[in-house]
Amino acid sequence: MDIDTILELHDVTKIFHMGNMFSRLRITAVDHVSLSVGAGEIFGLAGESGCGKSTLARMILGFEEPTGGTITHRSKDGQPITGKKVWRTAGVQAVFQNPFETFNPLRQVERYFFETVHYFGLADNQDDALERIESVLEMVGMSYDAIAGRYPSEFSGGQLQRVSIARSLLSEPSLLIADEPVSMVDASIRMSIMNLFRDLVDNLGLGVVYITHDLATAHYVCDRIATMFRGNIVATGDVDKVLIDPKHPYVRLLRECIPEADPRKRWETKVQLSESDAEEYLRIGCKFAGRCPQVMEICRHETPQDIDVDGELVKCHLFRTDS
Ligand code: SF4
Repeated sequence: MDIDTILELHDVTKIFHMGNMFSRLRITAVDHVSLSVGAGEIFGLAGESGCGKSTLARMILGFEEPTGGTITHRSKDGQPITGKKVWRTAGVQAVFQNPFETFNPLRQVERYFFETVHYFGLADNQDDALERIESVLEMVGMSYDAIAGRYPSEFSGGQLQRVSIARSLLSEPSLLIADEPVSMVDASIRMSIMNLFRDLVDNLGLGVVYITHDLATAHYVCDRIATMFRGNIVATGDVDKVLIDPKHPYVRLLRECIPEADPRKRWETKVQLSESDAEEYLRIGCKFAGRCPQVMEICRHETPQDIDVDGELVKCHLFRTDS
């Protein structure tokens, strides 16, 4: 891990056991995933519902323990961030999909700011705390006067998401995990929030993992992207390479249509699968073989490995040069 890498995943795997004592299923929700995110980079993690991206995000935040592999975090000055509950450290913060679920409707939002300052010991007195709170609100285009004494319901979805982003910046994190941060805000202001992430990354040098099913916003804001299917990263690389000239058959399909069933359930701890989902997770060989328009005989019995195709890593037998 070099000094500019703030997040590194090596061979991360998560296995869930499902069913009852007579029919135990072993679902590999995340299958030997390796990736890294650098300071000053927005890294997209894309895929349809049930692909494993939320489980991966939960492990990055420390909500879930990996079954195997390692996850390493670093602060902006290169120091390791340790502790199992990574989401409670100053260095790693999260912005969730629905800002109205982030804040208790019966509490004034300013209380969250003062509590965060207090929790991380970020100020010696009230004036210092206020100064720090003002400065992060300014970064997201708001002010303390605009939030003082107000409850979550008094903000629009877009305003409250900005408030949520501001709070996540209080502890000067090196990494933000942004889980579908614009999917529940008005379409007309989505791009302004994506632009805000870009400005924060460029100005503060933090890294962002942007989890999404929306390839349009991913292409707009990400530097690199990984697309997931049934626990595997099937294509990784520069966002233009992966999305403008997609090589993997799944990414080609993803560009056309992405079903995202009930996004409100995406942070549930248990994997919920329909029969066909489970079939795909348990499939031998390439997990996409049942839907792939270019499926070959080898795909049904041999698991594809990562192949470097013009700087993009693609997990697909189509690109083998040894057969
Ligand atoms: Fe399709 Fe085979 Fe490539 Fe899988 S390995 S994506 S089934 S061609």
